[in-house]
Amino acid sequence: MTHIVVLGSTNMDLVTYVAKAPQRGETVTGREFHTIPGGKGANQAIAAARAGATVSMIGAVGNDAFGLRLRDTLEHSGVDTDFLRTVEGPSGTAHIVVDDEGANSIVVIPGANGTVDHLSPGDEGVIASADALLLQLEIPLRAVVLGAQAARRHGIRTVLTPSPAQPLPPELLDTTDLLVANEYEAITLTGRADPREAAAALLEAVPEVVVTLGATGCLCLTRGTEPLVIPAPKVTAVDSTGAGDTFVGTLAVALAEEKPVREALSWAAAAAAISVQRAGASASMPYRPEIDAQFTA
Ligand code: AMP
Repeated sequence: MTHIVVLGSTNMDLVTYVAKAPQRGETVTGREFHTIPGGKGANQAIAAARAGATVSMIGAVGNDAFGLRLRDTLEHSGVDTDFLRTVEGPSGTAHIVVDDEGANSIVVIPGANGTVDHLSPGDEGVIASADALLLQLEIPLRAVVLGAQAARRHGIRTVLTPSPAQPLPPELLDTTDLLVANEYEAITLTGRADPREAAAALLEAVPEVVVTLGATGCLCLTRGTEPLVIPAPKVTAVDSTGAGDTFVGTLAVALAEEKPVREALSWAAAAAAISVQRAGASASMPYRPEIDAQFTA
């Protein structure tokens, strides 16, 4: 079975549904409030596990009620939490506002994720046993770099989601095999206004780039081959939270299974299209049979 390792964040998502998100200084009355386990690391781990991989999560939760629930949720989705530490203090939280168009805005408080600034004993061993290592930027950059370097030492493919968007140091770019950015991240990282140009600029730093374009789909650039443009299935979106993580987790599984790149991208787009039709981040992620049913080659 495919083995995916995720080094990243776990957060409790505190999700508010509101017709229109408040402007600065404005107070609005929302409709609903939910606590939903999330964090880009945990989300990608759950997406990959539901897509059919064996998944190990490296990271940290706090010794609070959220931490217990975050660990439990990962385990319930079949994610191995042996490398998920429990540390003194609060778990990470993400404060999310979802509007009637399904768009979201998010404030993240790192909490326990902030303690993941190094690799702990055993982490390199589990990374070495993986088919791919998934990385995001919701833990200290130092650990992301150390993880990517460990993966490189063992010849393991690294998949980086540059979120939240921030300048990427050369030592991280040098150890990234595939960069998957959304349009905002690609534009922020490169200063180019056009996603194609942004993707081309990123391709100068890493060998393979995917830029996701929301309801439009995604484009994939690999050095030495023609760009691929993959449309997203036409669906009615209710909540796009976690769509990108569903896409990345599923894509990593497909690539580790050695599906051809175009098929892997379409399969990931099918999974993400299912997730946007349901509320929540990890809660909305599909299981493999649903992805296969939605997938059209
Ligand atoms: P984003 O992070 O918004 O670029 O979304 C990541 C991926 O999720 C996209 O590349 C699409 O495959 C999928 N996706 C996002 N929004 C939608 C939507 N409204 N309809 C269908 N697929 C979507």
